[in-house]
Amino acid sequence: MIEKKMFINGCWEAAVSGRSRQIINPFNQKVISEVAEGGREDAQRAIAAAREAFDSGVWSNLPAAERGELLYQLAGRIAEESEALAELESLDTGKTLEESRWDMADIAGIFRFYAGLADKDGGEVIESPIPNSDSRVVREPVGVCGQISPWNYPLLQAAWKLAPALAAGCTVVVKPSEITPLTTLMITELAAKLDFPPGVINTVLGPGADVGAELAESHLVDLISFTGGIETGKTIMRAASGNVKKIALELGGKNPNIVFADADIDTAVDYALNGVFFHAGQICSAGARLMLEDSIHDGFVEQLKARMAQIRLGDGLRQGTQMGPLISQEHLSKVEKYINVAKAEGARLELGGTRPLAAELQNGFFLLPTLFTECHGDMRIVQEEVFGPVITVEKFSSEEEAVRLANGTIYGLAAGFWTSNAGRIHRVAKQLRFGTVWVNDFNVYFTQAPWGGYKQSGLGRELGRLGLEEYTEVKHIFQNYKPEPLAWFGV
Ligand code: NAD
Repeated sequence: MIEKKMFINGCWEAAVSGRSRQIINPFNQKVISEVAEGGREDAQRAIAAAREAFDSGVWSNLPAAERGELLYQLAGRIAEESEALAELESLDTGKTLEESRWDMADIAGIFRFYAGLADKDGGEVIESPIPNSDSRVVREPVGVCGQISPWNYPLLQAAWKLAPALAAGCTVVVKPSEITPLTTLMITELAAKLDFPPGVINTVLGPGADVGAELAESHLVDLISFTGGIETGKTIMRAASGNVKKIALELGGKNPNIVFADADIDTAVDYALNGVFFHAGQICSAGARLMLEDSIHDGFVEQLKARMAQIRLGDGLRQGTQMGPLISQEHLSKVEKYINVAKAEGARLELGGTRPLAAELQNGFFLLPTLFTECHGDMRIVQEEVFGPVITVEKFSSEEEAVRLANGTIYGLAAGFWTSNAGRIHRVAKQLRFGTVWVNDFNVYFTQAPWGGYKQSGLGRELGRLGLEEYTEVKHIFQNYKPEPLAWFGV
């Protein structure tokens, strides 16, 4: 049994309105839990608590090593509970247990990484050009942070935000997606048993349009960090302008996976699948846009079809399942709409495109792995984020054309390419306008390296050292240690 209330100022609280929301297992639509459904007034209480905790210095003035120690302890609790957390994540999102286990191992590691970094930045001494003076640059916590996460990687995305913010000395109000709040509630519970002062960590629940919007608009919040869709990101940017908040945005992607004819084709086929079908394609970095050099196109598509037809759909918690359902009926309908758009645009449906027929899948939000060929860069199915188990295939005939097509998108989150040509590796990696470029691999990320998007895929970076710096302000302290009158005015 996990907590079903919100955590505000060190106490578990029901929504002021008394409302609650049922949380559904997307595999069978059964109710897993019923949690508090917060509103603006709950968000305001949490923000006030975080403001007071920050302004009191109870967290930001604590020696950084002590903040790090508490984060180490939280990492330890997460590792101890990782199997329970993974099961809860799979129940809430439908993803396979194996995938949730990877996520939980990462999450414990993220807390450890930022625990270790908490006391490592001692600032910088600048060689002052002014005689008899000292000049130092230090980093200080930004303040109160609103942190809004999506439903596809609920706890992983929350951890990317929570761990560096706390390490930096900020106080936080975390808001998980209203449809997948359970693991965020569970780690809040783990944190609540440790010695974090009241008001340092606050977890609020509820819809984005109320609770999320309050976090983005409030003049008591200093930074808003958001992961989610591009349109929501734009709304948050506008809302955040009221008090010129710092903004960190991790938005969508439409990520090209380019295969040159000189690549190791068998491995590239395998990764064309790995790049898309984890979590039924509901991944911001999914390689949904497959680009194949002319001469390998037909054979590659045949291999892909044969493998895709064998993907085992089912309950994420059952051993042997390779792909679970989509998150909700609403999202399934959106993906189905895109399949109709693709057909109308003239893309050729090679496989899938419908819901599976198996009786045991009828209550879940399943869609068959879907493959479209004869796609072109100007189609909506190629340009827009579908966020489902759908691959589109485009052909190209030269390196220059591949790069031009790949860059022809408003997004810039990640791209991958496959080649055995050393010169091409340098040329293409340099020309691709994406925050992450994978060479002979796909969908690799780790805590130590920064993650984020070029262009409309976002603002700022998470993970790595940069992920900590996002939560800091830079202060220059100048000291004149031999002050003398200038004798300029009125003498
Ligand atoms: P979403 O934008 O619908 O919702 C994300 C979060 O924002 C939720 O918590 C939601 O309640 C909240 N929200 C909604 N409207 C809001 C508003 N007006 N003000 C404040 N908050 C609001 O996104 P989603 O459907 O939950 O997630 C899928 C999207 O997330 C995809 O576009 C995906 O690419 C993106 N994503 C990006 C990354 C990345 O690292 N770049 C990682 C994961 C997901």
